[in-house]
Amino acid sequence: MIYLDNAASTPVHEQVLHEMIPFFQDQFGNPSSIHRYGRFAQRAIQNARKQIAHLINSEPNEILLTSGGTESNNTALFGLAHAAKGNHIVTSSIEHEAILEPCKKLEKEGFEITYIPVDDSGLVNSKDIEKSITPETCLVSIMFANNEVGTIQPIQEISKICHDKQIVFHTDAVQAVGKVKIDVKELGIDMLSISSHKINGPKGVGALYIKKGIEISPFIFGGGQENGMRSGTENVASIVGFGKACQLAQENMKQNILHLQNIRNNLIAKVMNEIPLVTLNGHSDQRIANNAHFTFLGVNGEDLIIKLDENGIAASTGSACSVRVQKESHVLKAMGFSHDQIAGSLRLTVGLSNTDSEIEKTVEILKKVVKELRAFSPLKEKYGF
Ligand SMILES: *Cc1c(COP(=O)(O)O)cnc(C)c1O
Repeated sequence: MIYLDNAASTPVHEQVLHEMIPFFQDQFGNPSSIHRYGRFAQRAIQNARKQIAHLINSEPNEILLTSGGTESNNTALFGLAHAAKGNHIVTSSIEHEAILEPCKKLEKEGFEITYIPVDDSGLVNSKDIEKSITPETCLVSIMFANNEVGTIQPIQEISKICHDKQIVFHTDAVQAVGKVKIDVKELGIDMLSISSHKINGPKGVGALYIKKGIEISPFIFGGGQENGMRSGTENVASIVGFGKACQLAQENMKQNILHLQNIRNNLIAKVMNEIPLVTLNGHSDQRIANNAHFTFLGVNGEDLIIKLDENGIAASTGSACSVRVQKESHVLKAMGFSHDQIAGSLRLTVGLSNTDSEIEKTVEILKKVVKELRAFSPLKEKYGF
């Protein structure tokens, strides 16, 4: 198999697994226990918290450990909204469902949400954000990099607008962490969501960076773990693995980005050269290092994924988190794509272990499969292939 769906999830790094194993075996203590088992687990969590904090240049006590990107986003939105005075929130029309669904719920609670549009490359205009802000605005949440088309937003511009108006700025950085150098102080970010399994760590663990001084209301109550912000016995092994994944991501960031870009650029060049009637979607340079997103007119994306899978290639039409209900991509819709363009879309996201020879094989198969599917396409006449 050739795995090209790294935006959906990544394999656990060998060194990460190695760090985790003792916590399933001898080191099974509850981190709240006073005895040495407990203290060992507690120290391991504090070490992981440092590794996570370090990756984004924050302080360890600004890191809230969660069950992943979804919970981090939910905590940022509900936690801030319920603690703040204003009742207006600004976000974008291309956010992940883990932002959009909480926003829908907040609308039902009486909050007003503004969804900032994007241009045809998936970029928000920070002027639109500035104009949307009212005296009631308590939060602006704009994703760092999009999970479907990979477009990177002008985060520093947006944070400046927010700070000039003393509004809290949150960013869903799940796709950007490890692939873009992120310094929350330099970028002026107040809250930031991270997910472990998108950076070669285990699933079911993540973090929300909350800048010191920002008030959030908790919604899980119990034993008072995580400073009372999220009760429940910590997922020690996963937290340790997440910490190690952050450390590795930081140490290897430069060479990882170069590797991903090289492979991805090779993929894009070959697809554009060898397959007729294809477009590359997203932004030409403000794009995350591992993302390639194409439209093959006349091809149904889901048929394409199945055919690719039969030929040993794992790919995606877009957001994996909502695959079970196949609906049209809200991201591509917001970018102004037609029904035919959305239907013909394919996302290929490379990872650390992909090679150029895998890319060559992928393009060969893709070329063959696209041709086969187009032969039966009802859009044959319309587009003339
Ligand atoms: C994957 C993803 C999430 C969800 O993270 P989980 O850890 O899977 O809950 C949120 N936002 C973006 C942009 C993602 O890509």
